[in-house]
Formats: sequence, C-alpha cells, structure tokens
Amino acid sequence: MTERKAGFATRAIHVGQGPDASTGAVVQPIHLATTFAQEGVGRHGGYEYTRSNNPTREQLETCLASLEGGRHALAFASGLAATTCAMLLLEPGDHVVYMEDAYGGTYRLFDKVMARYGVRFSAVDATRPGAIEAAMTERTRLVWIETPTNPRLRIVDIAAAAEAAHRHGASLAVDSTFATPFLQRPLELGADIVMHSSTKYLGGHSDVLGGCLVTSDDAVAARLRFHQNAVGGVPSPFDCWLLLRGLKTLALRMQRHCDNALAVARHLDAHPSVSVVHYPGLESHPQHALAARQMSGGFGGMVSLELEDEAAAVRVLEALRLFTLAESLGAVESLAEHPGLMTHTSVPPEERRRIGLGDGLLRLSVGVEDLDDLLADIDQALRRFE
Ligand SMILES: *Cc1c(COP(=O)(O)O)cnc(C)c1O
Repeated sequence: MTERKAGFATRAIHVGQGPDASTGAVVQPIHLATTFAQEGVGRHGGYEYTRSNNPTREQLETCLASLEGGRHALAFASGLAATTCAMLLLEPGDHVVYMEDAYGGTYRLFDKVMARYGVRFSAVDATRPGAIEAAMTERTRLVWIETPTNPRLRIVDIAAAAEAAHRHGASLAVDSTFATPFLQRPLELGADIVMHSSTKYLGGHSDVLGGCLVTSDDAVAARLRFHQNAVGGVPSPFDCWLLLRGLKTLALRMQRHCDNALAVARHLDAHPSVSVVHYPGLESHPQHALAARQMSGGFGGMVSLELEDEAAAVRVLEALRLFTLAESLGAVESLAEHPGLMTHTSVPPEERRRIGLGDGLLRLSVGVEDLDDLLADIDQALRRFE
C-alpha cells in the first residue's frame, strides 16, 4: 500500500522537521556546532564538519526537496552561490544558452566571471518557439531559463525548453525564484535542476540570504554535492533555521501575494497614467495561457509597469509611502524599484533597451498588507504627477 502524500502546506511545516527526538521541543534546535564527535576514526553518524553537512541544513534541504518534488536539494549562502555551483558542472569550452531577460546578477556572473573561465554564453529570447534550439552548438551543455522573468515577467515554456535541451544532450536549469514551488514545479515539467534565491519568497521576511538547487538526478546531485563542499558557499545553521521558519508560511503568504498582485495589476491596468502593466495573471499578458498551464494557484506577487519616462518613474517611486523604495522582493512588505537605475545596472544600456527594459519601467513586489492600503498608496503616488 502506498502512503498518501501530504499536501504542500503540510509538507512545508512538517517535512524534515517535527519535534526534536531528544527533548520533544516542537521547534527544532539550531545546530551551531562546526564539528561533530566521531565514535572511532572515520566512524560517525553522518556529520563530521559543518561545511560538508550540518543537521539544521539537512532539515532545510529535506524540506526543500519535498516541496519541489525532487530527490535532492542543496542549500547555499545566496542565490548566486547556488547558481555558481550549478555553473561548476561545466568545463572550459562548454556553451550555455540562457534567457536574455535574466536576473541582473545572473547576467553578471555569466558575463564577467564564468566567461573568464572559458564558458561561452548565448542570450536568447526563450519565449520565441525555436529560439533555444537555434542557438545551440555542439558544445551546449546547459540551458538556463528564468520564468517568470525579472523584471518583465515574461513566461518561458518549461516543458518545451526541456525538450529542446534534451534533444541536444544538454540539461535544463530553471531559476524559479519568482514562482516558488507553491506555484510552479519545473522538475515535473522536465527540468533537470531548479534554482531559487531563497532570499526572496522562501525566506519571505527580508531577513535572510540564501539559495538552493534541487534535482532528481543522482549523478548531477553527487557532483553538485561535491562542489558545495569543495567550494564552500554554504549557509550558516542560523540562516537555515530562519528559512525553515519562513517555509512554514509559504503557502499562506503566496496565496495572499497572488491575490494582492492580481488586484494591483488590474488597478494599474485601468489607470490612465500607466502605459503598460506586465503581470502574467492579466488576460492581456501575451503568455497568459502558458502561465495558466504551467503555474497553478496563482501568478505570483511581482508586477511591473511602464510610465511615460524615467522622470515620471522616479517621481512615482519617491512618492510611494507604503511601498518601500528598495531592491529585492518576495517578502511580506511591499517594495518598489526602478530596474534600469537599481537592480539591473550591470546590464549594459544597449542590452537593456534590446530586451525591452525601458527607462519608465518600475517593478513592484506586492506584499501581504491590506489591499486597500496598497491601492490607496499607488493612487496617491500616481496622482501627484498628473
Ligand atoms: C535575487 C535573485 C537571484 C540572486 O539571489 P541572491 O540570493 O541575491 O544571491 C537570482 N535570481 C533571481 C530571479 C533573483 O530574484
């Protein structure tokens, strides 16, 4: 008889956690120890040195694997440390095809760091059917996509990208940070590796930096595990514990983020001062149908909008009161920023224009506050420059 699989919210609270066996404490302790006593030389219970393995990190990894539906999860000190570890699967001369509208720091890591080690990169508009395959070469080992993308909230077809990658013997990695496993599970759609910046929705409170990789491929997991230890970009036990705490409310928070963001997007869409609203939950979004198919339970908490020009965008940003002017995203409090002047400055201006990252573009991370308060704040900020 197969055991019934518990639902997402239940697993987020219980998997890898549960009462501490030695004391009954309902909340697990934080194992700060960096080293562990051995019974005999080389004989131990799975823990020897915290960079290699740590009980608190292992609990986090067990929970993350369960939520993504993968066999293995690996936690890192930041999203970029996780992406770097995935890049270390490559050799000099290998080629990567990636979605052009990627997180600015991902672009910088590819362009300014990995390229120096002989890895070659091609940016494509992966929303166009056939674009990934057209860019692939004999040496393409990896396809890297992000969906929904940052900051334009474009949607890439994960199943189609996986097929394209696999037909040419490459792997597909998906940065699923904006969606979280609550809304989208790329491994179920054929991806080989899922990456998250846990700094965002997984932690959910703007107080912990982290990243993770999840895979069901045992061989890939073993190589990632080797590099996690060999390179050492691991999170502290305290950070792992904060992330476990954040995960417990992920389902609740995401529902509210999605409800608020959809209402904010509709409100902005109807506003005369706003030229364009980018939100995959709007019927007018060019990939709304695809988003509805590959995501479930909502379309996320990120909304971007275009105003007339940079001056208007800056004025509105500085007039917002409840939305805090800050980088980052995915936490309970609402944030607003200007990608061109803040998060995406590492993307050269001509590249920004090419991928449609205009001067009047603003990005909102819609939090879980009362909707009426968020709408009132947006209205007063937009009114001020009419
Ligand atoms: C923040 C972010 C990253 C990088 O994560 P850090 O935790 O800041 O290193 C990568 N991808 C996306 C989509 C992000 O939002």
